[in-house]
Amino acid sequence: MDAKQQIPLFSAVAANAGIDFSEPLMRVVNRHWYIMGEEVKAFEREFADYVGVEHCISVANGSEALEIALLGMGVGPGDRVVTVANAGFYSSTAIRAVGAEPVYVDVDDRSLTMCPESLKQALAQPAKVVIVTHLYGQLAEIQTLASIARESGAAVLEDCAQSHGARSEQGQCGAFGDLACFSFYPTKNLGALGDGGAIVTSSPEIAERLLKLRQYGWATKYHVTVPLGRNSRLDEMQAAILRVKLPLLDQWNAERRDIAKKYCEAFAALPVKLPASLGDDFVAHLFVLRVENRAAFIQYLKDQGVSTDIHYPVPDHWQTAYKLNGTFDLPVTETASSKLVSLPCFPGLTTEQVNRVIEVVCNFFKQGV
Ligand SMILES: *Cc1c(COP(=O)(O)O)cnc(C)c1O
Repeated sequence: MDAKQQIPLFSAVAANAGIDFSEPLMRVVNRHWYIMGEEVKAFEREFADYVGVEHCISVANGSEALEIALLGMGVGPGDRVVTVANAGFYSSTAIRAVGAEPVYVDVDDRSLTMCPESLKQALAQPAKVVIVTHLYGQLAEIQTLASIARESGAAVLEDCAQSHGARSEQGQCGAFGDLACFSFYPTKNLGALGDGGAIVTSSPEIAERLLKLRQYGWATKYHVTVPLGRNSRLDEMQAAILRVKLPLLDQWNAERRDIAKKYCEAFAALPVKLPASLGDDFVAHLFVLRVENRAAFIQYLKDQGVSTDIHYPVPDHWQTAYKLNGTFDLPVTETASSKLVSLPCFPGLTTEQVNRVIEVVCNFFKQGV
């Protein structure tokens, strides 16, 4: 393999190879109905069925899904919302946008998802909602977390933006919480050709509020019955694209998991921390290692033509826009943030490329750099 040809962290070309986009796109163009039409309606039905819930309310993107979900749960100024600080500030953005106050809890060292014990401690003071992020495609300990949250009177919002299709024997991510958010950003496990998002729930009352909130707070056209509504909609073209891709999601997730399996086998004896699971509860949205000597590791991989990234370099409570330094003690989150490295892991990554990534990573440790 040509070392000069950089292996990317994600390739839309490879991930979308072989899909015919012209038929669904032209179907929408020829219908001349671009917003809130048949495609959106059909996708919402199909996606709700896929997740195993009653309702799907599509919105403009995953971040607005989180924000509208919080509004739908009645979260506002002064309310406490519990979340983790290692998931890229998306939940924090939504919490801040509705004027609420984030309460950060630490993550489990193996899975890097919310630690039940830390959640219990945080809920000594009541909170309105707990946001559980299934990070990197790993299903969190959602049932334990949900029962702790509900015991304290908090609602449960799942952030499934990285975990479409992750499941345990008890169900699929998105079906455990009171409601759940998805993103269809192009790099996600189910990605549109642009922005897109959705909120799912099995509660008819929540679904009804969300339907109004995404469209100006309207109950019917021009009749505003719910405050703080906005315009946040998935469009017909993206819905048509997502309908083509949804039936392929499980197969793509299996492909991602196979790559993760190969990495884990090859790296088993190396001084690195690996993903916690390779089962159906992990859809390998990102393959994240923890290495001690990160800067040298990243530089070596770069020189050898392997792209990497860091998800995420700055914990939420250390972001400089909000002066929270010293307010939260999150040792696992903080330690991990200096060691995380993501390797290429996406459908369409070739066996040759996977083997090359393995060779380069192993060489780094052989050389004892
Ligand atoms: C991508 C992502 C989001 C936001 O989705 P957008 O569609 O990009 O707004 C939210 N949460 C997590 C965990 C994500 O990875």
